[in-house]
Amino acid sequence: MSAYRKSYRKGMIRVAIAYPSNSRVALQSLSIHIIRRLLNEHSNVYSDFVFMSDDGKSTTKSLRDFDIVIFSVHYELDYPRILKMMGISGINPYSSQRTVDDPLIVMGGPTLMANPEPMAPFADIVLIGDAEMLIPALINYYPDYGKNVEEYANLTGFYVPSLGKHDVTKAFVRDLSYSIKLIHDTAIELSLGNVKSIFSNPAILEVMRGCPRGCLFCMEGFVGRPVRFADINSIKGLVLRDLGKGEGLVNGVSLIGLSVTDHPGFKELMSFFSG
Ligand code: SF4
Repeated sequence: MSAYRKSYRKGMIRVAIAYPSNSRVALQSLSIHIIRRLLNEHSNVYSDFVFMSDDGKSTTKSLRDFDIVIFSVHYELDYPRILKMMGISGINPYSSQRTVDDPLIVMGGPTLMANPEPMAPFADIVLIGDAEMLIPALINYYPDYGKNVEEYANLTGFYVPSLGKHDVTKAFVRDLSYSIKLIHDTAIELSLGNVKSIFSNPAILEVMRGCPRGCLFCMEGFVGRPVRFADINSIKGLVLRDLGKGEGLVNGVSLIGLSVTDHPGFKELMSFFSG
C-alpha cells in the first residue's frame, strides 16, 4: 500500500522504533509513525514498533532482534523505562558495557535536545534536530559506519556521548514544504489503517516550527528554534489536493504549531478555509 508497512527480507537493516510505554499511549504519538515512514522510505530498511506491556514487565518484541534501536523520548519520566526496556531485552543500559553484538542505541526527542546529558551514559548516539534530516542520515551512513559510533560524530546533529564533549550543530529543515506533506500524508494513512480511532481527523497541517515569542521558560520554544513558517501555497495545495476525495479525508483541518496565529499568513489562511 505504501512506504509505511513493509515485510522483512534477508539483508535489510532492522530498526526498532521503541517507545517506553504501552501501545495505547505510544500509538498516539504521531512522531513514531513519522519516524517509521521516514525509515521505510529506504528500500533496505525494515522497521517495527516495540512497546512495553501494560504491566511494564515485558516488551512487545525483543530489542535484541534489531540492528538499530531508536528511542523516541518525550518526557523525563520516560528515562527509567527506557533503561528497563533495554534490561528486559538483555541489553546492558550502559553504552560502555555493550559490544558489537548489541543493537546501536539511538535516542532523540525534545527533552534530549534540551539536555542530552542525563541519558548520555546510556545512548550510543543522541540525535539533535529534526527527524526528516537525521533519520535518513543515520540510515545512509549505517552500512559504512555500522556500530563504530565515533564515525557518526562528523554528521550534523549527531552527538556521540562516549567521545566526551564535542560541538554538535542542530540539524533542521529550512523549508517545511516536505515536512507538512510528510506529516499530513502519514496521518491520512493512519486514518485509513488500523489506528483510525486515534487519528479521526487526519487533515493535520504543521504550519510552523519554533515560536517567535521566545518565552525564556519554554522548552518547546527553545528546542524548536529557528522559527520556520510553512509556505502558505504548500498548505493550500495539500488541502485542495484532498478536497473532494471522499472517505472523509478532509472534514476539518487541524493546524499544529506552537503559536499558529503568529504565522504571517494566518489571516489569509482563515479566509482560504472559510471561502
Ligand atoms: S510556545 Fe508559548 S510559552 Fe513557548 S515561547 Fe511560544 S508563546 Fe511562549
